[in-house]
Amino acid sequence: MLLFEKVSPLKTLLDKLRGDGKSIGFVATMGALHTGHLALVRLAKSQNDLVIVSIFVNPTQFNKSEDLLKYPRNTEKDLAMLRSVDCDIAILPEVDDIYPKAVKSEEIDLIGLDLNMEGTYRPGHFDGVATVVKRFFEIINPDKAYFGEKDYQQYLVIKHISESLSLGPEVIGAPIERNDHGLALSSRNERLSIAGKNAALIIYDSIRWAKNNFEKFNPAEILDIIKNKFQSSELELEYVEICDQATLKPLKEWDDAKHARIFIAAELGKVRLIDNDSLF
Ligand code: AMP
Repeated sequence: MLLFEKVSPLKTLLDKLRGDGKSIGFVATMGALHTGHLALVRLAKSQNDLVIVSIFVNPTQFNKSEDLLKYPRNTEKDLAMLRSVDCDIAILPEVDDIYPKAVKSEEIDLIGLDLNMEGTYRPGHFDGVATVVKRFFEIINPDKAYFGEKDYQQYLVIKHISESLSLGPEVIGAPIERNDHGLALSSRNERLSIAGKNAALIIYDSIRWAKNNFEKFNPAEILDIIKNKFQSSELELEYVEICDQATLKPLKEWDDAKHARIFIAAELGKVRLIDNDSLF
């Protein structure tokens, strides 16, 4: 696996590889890798001649500086994990190389995809995500870019900017990887105790319950039942929403959307967890 810290030599190499007709798959990460990230790399490997993974803790997408400082970092372990799945190239850029002028977000029209859920609870988050991904797409110019449905709202925001700004790559969503009990894998899970991980199962249990029972209720009733479930849990529910899967507009009636998805965010202590799944 080739390792780059500077953008310029990477661009030179990628230009040459593209000239040789190689297709390039890209996976953006913030490190603290787990098997969820590796599933994205494997999917990218299966669809491209070579795969490049970025490890960059992007300062503009953290609305709380405390969260940025606490974000887990373990570069050596991350690189060993990438080698284990035959990743071809890793880029670990400096902040100055990604933000040469000023460390701030661009203004990009996200057509309202950024307004509810993560957008409400993490103001500015999606402006930061859109800015950094646009920059990586410009540097790497991949054929395909892979994002986890674990961050479904993020996946839709990135798909939108890639298409509306004609950035080039096809944006592909990859299924959520979970542990044996259903907890969605996340770098933040490292900060949970075993008891915490057990308590956090209420998130996917609620989602699973909604998947199995939604036809008996309307969306508002499902949300109320789940909110009640969380009242007797150690987790503090931030939001539970049922939305049109394409527009992320909250649903009043099931007939209002062709496909619906349920989304949950909750905090356990200071660890913030999110999850979602399709209902139909
Ligand atoms: P992060 O390092 O948290 O920014 O995540 C990098 C990429 O991995 C994003 O596209 C995430 O959606 C994806 N990802 C993180 N956790 C999972 C998971 N459990 N299953 C699938 N994809 C994931």
